[in-house]
Amino acid sequence: MKIIDISLPLNNQTPVYPGNVPLSVSIHHVMPEHATQLSSITMGSHTGTHIDAPAHAVAGAPTLDKIPLENFVGPCRVLDFSKSNVASVTKEMLQSKNIKKGERILLKTKNSLRGFKEFYDDYAYLSGDGADYLASLSVLIVGIDALSIKQRGSNDHRPHTSLLAESIPIIEGLNLALVEEGEYELFCLPLKFIGIDGAPARAVLIRNA
Ligand SMILES: [Zn+2]
Repeated sequence: MKIIDISLPLNNQTPVYPGNVPLSVSIHHVMPEHATQLSSITMGSHTGTHIDAPAHAVAGAPTLDKIPLENFVGPCRVLDFSKSNVASVTKEMLQSKNIKKGERILLKTKNSLRGFKEFYDDYAYLSGDGADYLASLSVLIVGIDALSIKQRGSNDHRPHTSLLAESIPIIEGLNLALVEEGEYELFCLPLKFIGIDGAPARAVLIRNA
């Protein structure tokens, strides 16, 4: 079995979306007499590879702990749009992939080819009509290789709201550089924070033979 890690590394160099809490990791204390070292971690709920809960963008909508774990684990399909170098993934592009109701969908764009060492304003994103389309198919989860699924600065909030209003969680901050288009098993479980809008997750894919 080959496990492909599609998560971003977390350390003091991890880029965060502008305005978000910087990620800070430091030694809290070292107690050699007890053979113990502990670190302190400060981070926002949308840091690195993380999951957006409906409550992130829709007032009164469910928080992350209310989303069934079945959304986060199971068969999934990676769709590769990285070679087309487009600014966004549109409804038309998604329609060409014959997505069925209830699939788990990960979107690979040019972002994965550029890498994640720093934050770029011009990252590829999901378009509003693309989000409407995926919401209409009642997919179980949508992931993308960008720290936000929405265009930076855009007033079209549908990439968040269309999906989250249907309680479809969103994985942001995936690294799909080493992943080809195809079918996989997804494991992407958020940390069990209660009553909040999102949380970091470790995401991996296992290739279906
Ligand atoms: Zn987020």
